[in-house]
Amino acid sequence: MEEICKNTVEALKRRGFDAVYCATAEEASSAVMAEVDAVQRVGMGGSVTMKELGVTERLNESGKLQTRGADCDLFLLSANAITEDGRIVNIDGNGNRVAASVSGPGKVVYAIGRNKIVSGGIDAAIARVKEKACPPNCIRLGKKTPCAETGKCADCDSPDRICKVTAIFDRRPTGTPTTVYVVNADLGY
Ligand code: SF4
Repeated sequence: MEEICKNTVEALKRRGFDAVYCATAEEASSAVMAEVDAVQRVGMGGSVTMKELGVTERLNESGKLQTRGADCDLFLLSANAITEDGRIVNIDGNGNRVAASVSGPGKVVYAIGRNKIVSGGIDAAIARVKEKACPPNCIRLGKKTPCAETGKCADCDSPDRICKVTAIFDRRPTGTPTTVYVVNADLGY
């Protein structure tokens, strides 16, 4: 997986992102916390990855975590999927996470585990989100959706549906400095 992670880093750079390879989760955690140490106000989308990296706990202790939106110096998140050719895909229910990752914060920082990397382009990335991310997230959040019961997407009309906004990043958004840490470890889902 090291080669695939490094390929993804180089592809992200070609797309205008600042991108860094991290060999371990510990390395990624230190890198993200160094970003946190450099600012005062931090925002974060719901992220199992950040929790697994220990960032959520340390942020809560620091008192710097102030918002789930874009009004911050630094916004932290992961991705639901990333293509090996460097495109990031995130799908939200209410859209605050994707909105904050596009515009508003002083800087955006992603930590993305190797398990989120797909070959096969955007269709494969969206399929990964529907198959691997949404069902466990619905279960985690107590949503009553078909995928929470069966593990499979039914393109549902459920009021609890969490797939409402899809963001595809073909390039770094203009005016939003963005660093992506690609981690050679399984993180989140
Ligand atoms: S559309 Fe509905 S069933 Fe499909 S992944 Fe999203 S929440 Fe689950």
